[in-house]
Amino acid sequence: MTFSLDRRAAELLPRGERLAAHAAAVGALRDKRDAAGRAEPDFERLREQARAIKAHTLDHLDVYLERFEARAQQAGARVHFAADAAELRRVVTELLVAKGARRVVKSKSMLTEECALNPHLERAGIEVVDTDLGERIVQLGHEPPSHIIMPAIHRTRGDIGALFERELASAPGDTDPGRLTAAARRDLRARFLAADAAISGANFAVAETGTVVIVTNEGNADLGSALAPVHIACLGIEKLVPALPDLAVFLRLLARSATGQPISAYTTLMTGPRRGAELHVVLVDNGRTRLLADPAHRSALSCIRCGACLNTCPVYRRAGGHAYGWALPGPIGAVLAPVLAPDAEQRSLPFASSLCGSCSAVCPVKIDLHDQLLAWRGSDSVPVAPPPGTRLAAAALRHPLAYRAVALAARLVWPWLGRLRVGPARAWLASRELPEHPGESFRARMRARR
Ligand code: SF4
Repeated sequence: MTFSLDRRAAELLPRGERLAAHAAAVGALRDKRDAAGRAEPDFERLREQARAIKAHTLDHLDVYLERFEARAQQAGARVHFAADAAELRRVVTELLVAKGARRVVKSKSMLTEECALNPHLERAGIEVVDTDLGERIVQLGHEPPSHIIMPAIHRTRGDIGALFERELASAPGDTDPGRLTAAARRDLRARFLAADAAISGANFAVAETGTVVIVTNEGNADLGSALAPVHIACLGIEKLVPALPDLAVFLRLLARSATGQPISAYTTLMTGPRRGAELHVVLVDNGRTRLLADPAHRSALSCIRCGACLNTCPVYRRAGGHAYGWALPGPIGAVLAPVLAPDAEQRSLPFASSLCGSCSAVCPVKIDLHDQLLAWRGSDSVPVAPPPGTRLAAAALRHPLAYRAVALAARLVWPWLGRLRVGPARAWLASRELPEHPGESFRARMRARR
């Protein structure tokens, strides 16, 4: 099996103007995150607190899951457990069929993307309309999201204007974000009013109170759950926090890390259903207990899906989210892929990293992402051997003599290396220029300084 992120990136890479727009949009999110962190004097303390709360919760996840189930049921919600993606799809479909629901509004949920819920419901004859604006854009464009919190970040204004003109009859050539948003709103409002059921994800679930917490900037999850007679919230078992004061820590970190906002526009806490309606909560495992049992990778379950690691990752910035080939792109996607991704190709994503460590540096819950990527590379869960260049480099670095020989050879051929246009060098040099060689080795320079 070959690892094909390179190929997919070459096919899908947003080239030229689109690459520049993508890199600028992603970079702006990173800058806003940094500014928000500097403006919050407690930011580093909050990160440490968040890390500790998550570590504690994961250590006692069985206790908190039972507590959540009991409290949510006391409050009138129905709690379901799904062992894997197929069971989530079955549970949700059965609930909808039992209610005779044919039209569903959905707010963004990476878990339902991970479990491929939409296509399954559509095959069952149930219309699913994504109501988050970015999610709606990619749905209309028949493509998956390319970012955890900005699903359409790979699309330019011009793309979206043309798409809306075709799909929503917006004015020809209109690329004004305000007018395009209004066109989407007009279309969605009718769909909210006609929906038989609402599906959402959840950012957190509070064990002490049985509360489901949904954080959005558009209020679409609230509108869906406030209007439809049935609301189904789908969440991974790792979304639990013990109590409301713990939730406060994460709410102060989430929006700052994601978009640089002090807090998102809407934070909704649902404890039980609204009067006359039904609330179902589906808690999904889908490989998470396997991660929980693995001390080297357990902390990846602390992720609060803020997207900060994507925004800082040099691979994500240039390749775009679609190149990763599954629901979760970027460093956190690559860390979770060996266990959660559906097929062998995606399980090899730990190789899609420069291991620069920037992802670990920005993560609000201090997940050691780049260390975990490195750990996965030698594991049986990753079905691809390291690329030949990596293996050669590893062999040379293990043997000082071999290293010196390779370094000497490289110095000698350096002036011609940039003109090499064969084999893997062709792809590598297509978008890079070799730096000027300093003329002597690092060792020689150090010797001269002594
Ligand atoms: S791994 Fe950390 S930075 Fe990346 S999405 Fe999760 S919480 Fe955010």
